[in-house]
Amino acid sequence: MTFSRNNQINKLKNNDEYDLLIIGGGIIGAAALTIASNAGLNVLLVDKHDFASGASSRSTKLLHGGIRYLPQLQFSLVKESLNEQKILKKRLGSLYRPLKLLAPIYKNDGFADLPKIFQKNFIAPFAFKLGLLFYDFLGGRKKPEKHKNISKNNTFDLFPKLKKINLKKSFIFQDAQTDDSKLVLSLLRTAVEINNSTAINYLNVKNIFKKNKFYEIHLRCVLTGVEYFVTAKKIIAASGVHNLPGDYKEVSAKLKMSGGAHLVLKGDPLEINNNGVFLPKTEDERVMFVLPWNGNTIVGTTDIEEFSGTKDNPYASKEEIDYLIRHVKKYFDIEKLEYISSWSGIRALIDDENNSTKKIMRGHIIEEVDKNFIQIAGGKLTGFRLIAIEALRQLFNKKFELQNIEYQDQIINYQNYYNFSDLDHSVNHYCVATPVDYLLRRTNISWFSEDNGKQIVKKIQKHTNFQDIDFDSFNYLKKEGLIIS
Ligand SMILES: Cc1cc2nc3c(=O)[nH]c(=O)nc-3n(C[C@H](O)[C@H](O)[C@H](O)COP(=O)(O)OP(=O)(O)OC[C@H]3O[C@@H](n4cnc5c(N)ncnc54)[C@H](O)[C@@H]3O)c2cc1C
Repeated sequence: MTFSRNNQINKLKNNDEYDLLIIGGGIIGAAALTIASNAGLNVLLVDKHDFASGASSRSTKLLHGGIRYLPQLQFSLVKESLNEQKILKKRLGSLYRPLKLLAPIYKNDGFADLPKIFQKNFIAPFAFKLGLLFYDFLGGRKKPEKHKNISKNNTFDLFPKLKKINLKKSFIFQDAQTDDSKLVLSLLRTAVEINNSTAINYLNVKNIFKKNKFYEIHLRCVLTGVEYFVTAKKIIAASGVHNLPGDYKEVSAKLKMSGGAHLVLKGDPLEINNNGVFLPKTEDERVMFVLPWNGNTIVGTTDIEEFSGTKDNPYASKEEIDYLIRHVKKYFDIEKLEYISSWSGIRALIDDENNSTKKIMRGHIIEEVDKNFIQIAGGKLTGFRLIAIEALRQLFNKKFELQNIEYQDQIINYQNYYNFSDLDHSVNHYCVATPVDYLLRRTNISWFSEDNGKQIVKKIQKHTNFQDIDFDSFNYLKKEGLIIS
């Protein structure tokens, strides 16, 4: 059965008993669904909005080893992430894109994550070099993947817009990139169309009641108001920054939140030529990235506790946008920096009573809500396979593995302009239920077009049956900070 929303709702109507319910269709929930259904379990996944509408379409899109965690002495996290890169390269196919990152070290501008003493001019390049040597070692990297020293001349040949004054040394090292929302959608389609599981967006878990050995789950369709009741033997909540639903709210994991804004620049105005640049030091002592993304450029990110908007629709504030532009100008010779769109995502961080969100470790937790019900929170996109496997193993006490995901080329090849063929295909195979699902998460149309997709919302509504649903696409785009006027 194909992964259309109508098909998924029909399946739900014919089956109300599941081995496992997964709450949340971000990267963690989607991975858990694919892995569990591949192991023969009858699984239902629901998301109260679109799949990947939370942090999993709002990240910086790096599948990284996390070089910045070395100074925090998180060696096992870095080693694990570097090993994960190797596994994901095989499992994700074309959704795993190797990426070369330039790390320029300037006078009075050592790598912000290093202790202050190692940021001093005479030692900063050596300290960074040492970190890269250790990074290569922890990743067991062979020659072509190892970091390289780059001379100043070569640096400016490769990155002609990079600031020349005060550059002391630069290195190029290897990491990887993905397309976060397309990765989530590919995992879900694999789970539904190959493993025969069920995944439904815009279906909110209102409440959960424990009945003997089962959980009874009360679901409500956000688009039509129709209610459903199902039972499940076990539950995984992979609900990101959100509390557990209904009566379980009070026992939700304690989280801190931090907003991270990004800008999309049209084309390659900084002339990075499909490479990334690691900006070593921001005003608030962090690092930032300038990255290629599907023919355009992204800049990010900020790290602020007081994010703008809501948990469902955070947006990049004027201050954050100014901050991002200021830091690009600090490292690149560019007078006017134009951007076409911006987004913000909220990190779910484990509340370890550390004062600053910048300093909280980016690990994950798996908390037992009760015997057959767990909540996953925190973590990185890069660690999604490990986190999902760990959660399933904890719940079912057996081994699990992620299969190779399928179909990814189809969603990768969608055009970033409106056309019937991609729209119909995404409705039938990637569960598009509203215009913004297609504009923001199956394609990059809203991010990459001057009017953020405003003009085609009506065309999409007309071509599909989306006129009948209770969803205001214009308002949604506005809440995302996309349609300014
Ligand atoms: C700004 C930023 C940059 C980042 N950059 C990177 C990076 O470059 N590399 C990296 O490895 N990681 C990165 N991360 C981290 C990564 O994005 C997250 O760890 C990951 O996306 C979290 O996925 P998730 O599935 O746990 O949560 P989410 O993607 O947030 O999904 C949770 C889902 O649960 C749903 N939900 C909640 N409550 C209910 C309910 N009652 N009923 C139904 N559904 C519900 C929500 O609608 C949501 O879709 C970044 C994060 C942010 C915010």
